[in-house]
Amino acid sequence: VAEGYECVVVGAGPGGYVAAIRASQLGLRTAVVERNRVGGRCLNEACIPAKAMLRVADVRDLVARASDFGLQTSEPKLDFAKAAARRDQVIGGLTDGVALLLKRHRVDVLEGAARISKRGVQVDSTELETERIILACGSVPQPILDVPFGERVLDTAATWLLGELPGSLCVIGAGPSGVEVASAFARLGTRVRLLESLVQILPREDPDTASVCARELANSGVEITTGAALTEIKPGAKAVAVEFNGQREEFDFVCIAAGRRADVGALELDDGDLALDDAGLIHVDGRMRTSRDGIWAIGDLVRGPALAHKASEEGVIAAEDAAGLATHPLDYSSIPAVTFSHPQVASFGLTQAAAEEEAEVVIGKVPLRSVGAPSVLGEETGLVKLVGNASTGEILGAHICAVNAAELIAEIKGARDYEAGFSDLARSVHAHPTVSEAVLEAARAADGWLIHG
Ligand SMILES: Cc1cc2nc3c(=O)[nH]c(=O)nc-3n(C[C@H](O)[C@H](O)[C@H](O)COP(=O)(O)OP(=O)(O)OC[C@H]3O[C@@H](n4cnc5c(N)ncnc54)[C@H](O)[C@@H]3O)c2cc1C
Repeated sequence: VAEGYECVVVGAGPGGYVAAIRASQLGLRTAVVERNRVGGRCLNEACIPAKAMLRVADVRDLVARASDFGLQTSEPKLDFAKAAARRDQVIGGLTDGVALLLKRHRVDVLEGAARISKRGVQVDSTELETERIILACGSVPQPILDVPFGERVLDTAATWLLGELPGSLCVIGAGPSGVEVASAFARLGTRVRLLESLVQILPREDPDTASVCARELANSGVEITTGAALTEIKPGAKAVAVEFNGQREEFDFVCIAAGRRADVGALELDDGDLALDDAGLIHVDGRMRTSRDGIWAIGDLVRGPALAHKASEEGVIAAEDAAGLATHPLDYSSIPAVTFSHPQVASFGLTQAAAEEEAEVVIGKVPLRSVGAPSVLGEETGLVKLVGNASTGEILGAHICAVNAAELIAEIKGARDYEAGFSDLARSVHAHPTVSEAVLEAARAADGWLIHG
């Protein structure tokens, strides 16, 4: 059977479904092929289940602290099955929403695994003829020490989708994903060890915010080992043994959160079909064009941080280019990234150390408690740090560890995008009492006239 489309998108994750909607908005008759579930890994097994379970831990913490606010409650007791049911309900609601959006935008959703064919894309026995293919297949986890996933050795997706609370868990890799797993499970009652081979957890973050996060993780019971040299993972019938730095410990499960690779397996690409970059990802230019005419690639398949919002933005760019529009380039130097621990860690741009290698910098740094709202909320832990260029006033980076840091970072990122400097931000009126006043004070501090703090 042959069918014709003006654009075929492979993969319906945050990259693919957004690309498909944008292509359809621009008048291209579009189909998206998904072999699993719409919403991709992000909605079904990664970002959303993770955040749903982290929310359970946050609510539990708040209830456990209720007496600080003068409220008498009994010790919160976790009903994991119910928490997991809520997680699944959240996932279902959001993926149904994506399916509805695709329908509303007249995108055909085709089930099956797609591979590239001579005239377009082959899905089972159907040939989809097309001149424009957008690849958005995402990424798959990499095993460590050649130990296959399964049973007691889990990837992050399987960890978030566990049906019951494990007694003990060893998390390998303290990037955002590993830290989130450690943060949630420790606060829900699991004994957690977090292993990181580098010298700090959240190695890409500024040490000032990463260290606050590490302290809070430790306070919630996570046993953190940085500089960990992992030598063995040995799954057994009743436990899995982990050997690191000459010591051996047993856990119910190990969660591997240490690296992913592009999911190109099902595409059945021949050698040299699409050029790859040094990291083994699909090589693309600024318009997301691959080395082959008529094929674009986006999201976790290509360079840049593996983040859902980055995938979506690249989807917009690819679709616009495919439709013949002059599209905007994506600034990879300032994509915001968030770790949804408690407190959250959010940042974009350069750390202080990286900025100092490039320019003369000013730092505006304030603890959260320098403004009023965190005390009202009972969420005083954290800081806001701005890194600015001393001579141009440009915001080079922002680093926040705070309650709702994920939301706070958007203001500073917006300021940078609209070419406001830290002195402009310092004169932007903020509502009182809000945590965002700490952003205002950090900007004032960078500008040399900190008022509160
Ligand atoms: C545990 C975890 C938590 C995360 N949390 C966050 C977060 O909070 N925020 C954030 O921004 N990012 C987060 N990420 C990263 C985020 O999930 C990815 O960057 C994002 O999903 C990438 O989107 P994508 O569209 O490229 O691919 P995916 O979401 O992986 O979707 C790709 C889809 O393509 C389908 N597919 C693949 N090959 C084929 C084929 N040949 N035919 C048909 N279908 C195919 C797959 O089934 C899949 O559904 C997290 C990742 C993990 C692992």
